[in-house]
Amino acid sequence: MSNAILDQTTLVSADPLAPVLGGELPAPLIDGTTVRYVNLDYAASAPALQEVSDYVQSVLPYYASVHRGAGYASQISTSLYENARRIVRDFVGGRADDAVIFTRNTTDSLNLLAGCVPSEGEVLYLDLEHHANLLPWLQRPHRSVTAADTVDATAVALDRELAAGGINLLAVTGASNVTGEVLPIGRLAEIAHAHGARIVVDAAQLAPHRRLDVSGDEIDYVAFSGHKLYAPYGAGVLVGRPDWLDAGTPHLAGGGAVKTVRVDSVSWATGPARHEGGSPNVLGAAALAHATQVISGLSEADWQRHEGELRTALIDGLSDLPEVTVHRIFSEETDAIGVVNFSVNGYDAGLVAAYLSAEHGIGLRDGKFCAHPLLKRLGLPSGSLRASFGLGSRQDDVERLLGGLRALISNGL
Ligand code: PLP
Repeated sequence: MSNAILDQTTLVSADPLAPVLGGELPAPLIDGTTVRYVNLDYAASAPALQEVSDYVQSVLPYYASVHRGAGYASQISTSLYENARRIVRDFVGGRADDAVIFTRNTTDSLNLLAGCVPSEGEVLYLDLEHHANLLPWLQRPHRSVTAADTVDATAVALDRELAAGGINLLAVTGASNVTGEVLPIGRLAEIAHAHGARIVVDAAQLAPHRRLDVSGDEIDYVAFSGHKLYAPYGAGVLVGRPDWLDAGTPHLAGGGAVKTVRVDSVSWATGPARHEGGSPNVLGAAALAHATQVISGLSEADWQRHEGELRTALIDGLSDLPEVTVHRIFSEETDAIGVVNFSVNGYDAGLVAAYLSAEHGIGLRDGKFCAHPLLKRLGLPSGSLRASFGLGSRQDDVERLLGGLRALISNGL
């Protein structure tokens, strides 16, 4: 079992999976037996860390209105919420004046930014994006570029398009949610800036797997979700330069987002409050922030080795099965997070996923991964399968999946 990463943490316990909730969930099989549930769907949502769950329990008694109450509990809730901004800014290596705005998730964060991009200028994106980093830009003047065969050639294609002028924002994912391949965000930021554009990184997949360095890489905006980063559902964040955000359309018009209101006019607040109208998700923000602190306490090298070993073991095992095809965007080996995309030739991806669940207790994702343009270009218009790893994943999860696929290939459905 490869759990070196977990042994590095302060979360060490007799059960190496204890840090991740649901590590020992039973999965009922169709023959009436149960097996340990194998979660190979961390890229969709990562189970909360035990330490995050404990933290949420510990702050729950102080639940009270934020920014609006003078009472003791209100003061604690307010400081939890405001501290969460500082913790998240540190986690991404943000600049001192970067705004940290809490949202519902990455989708919400990118929609918020879409309401703030100055109207002169277009948004540029790649065709490999998750819909969350594509659809918000369709509502604005936009252009897209098809990712090339290599990361280098893709950067050159973006450079060429930016050089044509008229673009004020490059929107790019940090890591593909379909294949796990990582984009060179520091280099792309340089290219964008050289042409007078800014960059937003959709870090929904990158943040749970790689350290971010917003100020070092000169990233202008970054967005990610708590539920993919070992926190419970409900909170996401947008971090970035305050000028566009302070001038943009308030994301949620309502209480707290204003300086003054008359019966038929308003003067909007600046800062995060401008976009956070209504009662905020204090627990969500605090949980997200706490998860970033736990993650920051892990050894990055061990963290990456753990997932890298699992990814390599799975790809090696899949390559021994001639009936299986592994899908990539780029033809060369690139840095990648713990995500593997594949198909079983002749089998519908949905049926394979249902079979693996019902007969082998494995949860993985099938479909088009909210990335329809990419799936179409990869020749997978009806979808494929995705296995993804996280902190609670083990080497025997890989074995279980390979065993399930071998059984399918030998015996059929
Ligand atoms: N961007 C990427 C790369 C993703 O993988 C996802 C979710 O899978 C999203 C954005 C959207 O995240 P959320 O559903 O939390 O808004």
